[in-house]
Amino acid sequence: MLNWMERDQEVIMSTYGRLPIVIERGEGNYLYDEDGKKYLDLFTGLAVNILGHSHPDILKALTDQASKFLHISNYFYNKPAIALAENLIASSIKGKVFFANSGAEATEAALKFVHKWAKEQKEKKQGVVVLKNSFHGRTLGALKLTRQAGVYQDFPVTDVPVYEVEPHDVEALENVFKQFSPAAIVVEPVLGSGGIVTLKQDYLRDIASLCKTYGVLCCMDEIQTGVGRTGTFFAYQQAGIEPDVILFAKGIGGGLPLGGIIVAERYAHVFKPGDHGTTFGPSPLSAALGNAVFDVLMKQGQLEKGKLVADELHEQMNVLMEKYSEIITEVRGMGMMLGLVMNVDAGSVKEIQRQLLEDGIMVDVTQQTIIRLLPPLTLTADEVKWFHTKLEEKIQTVVNNNVKS
Ligand SMILES: *Cc1c(COP(=O)(O)O)cnc(C)c1O
Repeated sequence: MLNWMERDQEVIMSTYGRLPIVIERGEGNYLYDEDGKKYLDLFTGLAVNILGHSHPDILKALTDQASKFLHISNYFYNKPAIALAENLIASSIKGKVFFANSGAEATEAALKFVHKWAKEQKEKKQGVVVLKNSFHGRTLGALKLTRQAGVYQDFPVTDVPVYEVEPHDVEALENVFKQFSPAAIVVEPVLGSGGIVTLKQDYLRDIASLCKTYGVLCCMDEIQTGVGRTGTFFAYQQAGIEPDVILFAKGIGGGLPLGGIIVAERYAHVFKPGDHGTTFGPSPLSAALGNAVFDVLMKQGQLEKGKLVADELHEQMNVLMEKYSEIITEVRGMGMMLGLVMNVDAGSVKEIQRQLLEDGIMVDVTQQTIIRLLPPLTLTADEVKWFHTKLEEKIQTVVNNNVKS
């Protein structure tokens, strides 16, 4: 009889590199495989399970809503969605929300919104500015904004002009604004799959102020950085700027698919009935879970608690970097979003990931040699210590091997 891994290979298209475990269930900050082996989840389904697994408040919201209805349609008022939009606005900018079902769909909504807005402007505005190595999703429209060679490959592209600039090059950005009159810039405050590249707050402020000067929409892609992951509800808030458009997804649905955009009040009229829509957005169930996430983060103080543990995690990773500066060249990121830049080959980084998995710790690797940590905000100081110890063991092994060879 085939096992689950073999059955997967038989019937699921091979578009992902999988880790060799089959998950059976999750509880708190841990996942358990088929054999009952326990793993500390520093991966959270790629920045989704911000409160870990099976959080009691999420389970309660799930059963409460599921016992009422799972789906209605956008022809009816959706109470969980209205409450979630109120929560989102109270935690960001005064404006209005459009709900979709995923990150890429949030980007598509933003693209259509930018396009409609541009058409209303007196002076001609066209196109979108993005940063080198950015990631905004994989559907054809979003793919045009995603500037990672391995991702956009040779798929057909929309005819929205896209201008790529280097992060932190303010002069280049202003030149693009002057020369091409783009309609918008879309930016991740921390480039996630691009390798946890944290944009400087001054740079975010420069972007916002250039947007004002040149009449360009300032759009923050907070799909990965949002929902408390970086220490504030949205990451841009730490720079004290006011974006025109915010993209959200991943953590917002408490583990269910949900995404969307928030646009500032002055642009709320741009989308009119018929301009955009989706059958499922938002699922009342996802929205109900989103409200539970909000409650735990903002009312029960989990955002603040998570921030303190995240500080501890950064500190311990910095200690490790100082001790093994030959191996770890940089610790970057914000809050529960960290990148450890490893000065070893991709194979060795994969091997560290594999050994950690053997010890019961899940980490992600991005851009081949960057260990990406996306822990839940419920991580504890003891778990940070344990991870530090285990990671140090693996690095010590690399050091020993290097000495031998
Ligand atoms: C994951 C991600 C997306 C795409 O989200 P999907 O739900 O996978 O479509 C877009 N932007 C950023 C910054 C992301 O991290």
